[in-house]
Amino acid sequence: MHICVLGAGVIGVTTAYRLLQDGHQVTLIDARGEPGAGTSLGNGAQLSYSYVAPLADPSVWSKWAYYMFSSESPLTIKPTLDPAQYRWLIQFLRCCNAERVRRTTIDLLQLAFFSRDQLKQWNAGLDLQFDYLASGKLVMFTDPAGLEGARKQVLFQAQFGCEQQVLDAASCIAIEPALGRSQRDWAGGVYTPSEEAGDCPQFCRALVRAMQADANFRFLGNARADAVRSEAGGLRAVQAGGEWIAADRFVLCLGADSVEFARRVGLTLPLYPLKGYSITVPLQDEASRAAAPQVSITDISRKIVYARLGQRLRVAGRIELVGRDDCIPQRAVQELKHGMRELFPGCALGDDASLSPWHGFRPATPSGVPIVGPSPVGNLYLNLGQGALGWTLACGSAALLADQIAGRKSPIDDTPFRYAARDGRRG
Ligand SMILES: Cc1cc2nc3c(=O)[nH]c(=O)nc-3n(C[C@H](O)[C@H](O)[C@H](O)COP(=O)(O)OP(=O)(O)OC[C@H]3O[C@@H](n4cnc5c(N)ncnc54)[C@H](O)[C@@H]3O)c2cc1C
Repeated sequence: MHICVLGAGVIGVTTAYRLLQDGHQVTLIDARGEPGAGTSLGNGAQLSYSYVAPLADPSVWSKWAYYMFSSESPLTIKPTLDPAQYRWLIQFLRCCNAERVRRTTIDLLQLAFFSRDQLKQWNAGLDLQFDYLASGKLVMFTDPAGLEGARKQVLFQAQFGCEQQVLDAASCIAIEPALGRSQRDWAGGVYTPSEEAGDCPQFCRALVRAMQADANFRFLGNARADAVRSEAGGLRAVQAGGEWIAADRFVLCLGADSVEFARRVGLTLPLYPLKGYSITVPLQDEASRAAAPQVSITDISRKIVYARLGQRLRVAGRIELVGRDDCIPQRAVQELKHGMRELFPGCALGDDASLSPWHGFRPATPSGVPIVGPSPVGNLYLNLGQGALGWTLACGSAALLADQIAGRKSPIDDTPFRYAARDGRRG
């Protein structure tokens, strides 16, 4: 079967790989010249298998005014004139209840663990180079009440196979000595030894290079999908880069841009772009390398994540509902630099240009559950909406999708991820 995968972010690249493994002929297209150059490019780099609790959480109700009006808040809501923002927010608020969070966390943990197994299996055969580090992760709290809440979450998640420990500040510093020079007054943290990190675009490029050895694979870069030909029962062809590509099946993996494409074929997707930023600190001298963490760190009150990528440290944060606004405000870069100076004062920070300031749009569903599977448009499949966890969930989502196309039973239940599950109940 010939399958055309639209979008070569981490979701599209992994989908193409899994379909190629099943013996299909695969064409992977992207508007950019290289794979992994959209939101997959500068993300937080954490493979965050045990931290999947959604943004839609009951605490949102009490923090609403803070999110709307405080310049200190790491989550910002700026009302726009776009009705899609209001529709998404209403669905999001409907998901902010304890039962939904519980369900979503269980569904995402299953997908995340499946994803971890897939990545391990694939990489055992391919030996891809992407600054992969099985580093473990510390989620750090300054607020004792927050740490107590985390303890309940750790107990809850233990039932589903998460091995996590709640530790005091000194024990956290013993695990990651680089935190010892931090200027924050830590209450403690949650340590998860099994968490990993890796460079997402390097992974995408390496996987595409590996696929290029297969005559059944074609990567078409600089090819924006901008027109479709439909026929009864589905899509016939997509026009990209001046070429009409006919295929038996199409898989939509355009990240936050999927909404626009879906609209062309009469499909409404419950996706909204959640903007975020990162900087990448080159650890140029020995002192900076020694002062930077090896273990991935999340500073929970600032919502800033840190991940070691070889001789670099990725620092990422902020969640903004501001529509598709492509600017990188100085304030956002300063916040990340400030976080870095507070936590790891021994790391030299060069000028802003050397930190490669970046922004991206998390393709988020209101509940945080991605959409993986067939769509109401005959031969069009969906693999999108992984939100803040696209790198983490990519390999598992790709394997689920390939199982659905093959009509195989997946090792995990795919029902919660199907488009049909969005009947107003799941968002
Ligand atoms: C600040 C930040 C930090 C994050 N940190 C983490 C993290 O630590 N761990 C984690 O798991 N996830 C993280 N994420 C989320 C993760 O980066 C995303 O979920 C993931 O990259 C989404 O991948 P994607 O393939 O769906 O989208 P994208 O990577 O955006 O890929 C979509 C592709 O479609 C292409 N495209 C768009 N329109 C068209 C068109 N019409 N025709 C052809 N091509 C088109 C684009 O060029 C792009 O390459 C973070 C995100 C942000 C913003």
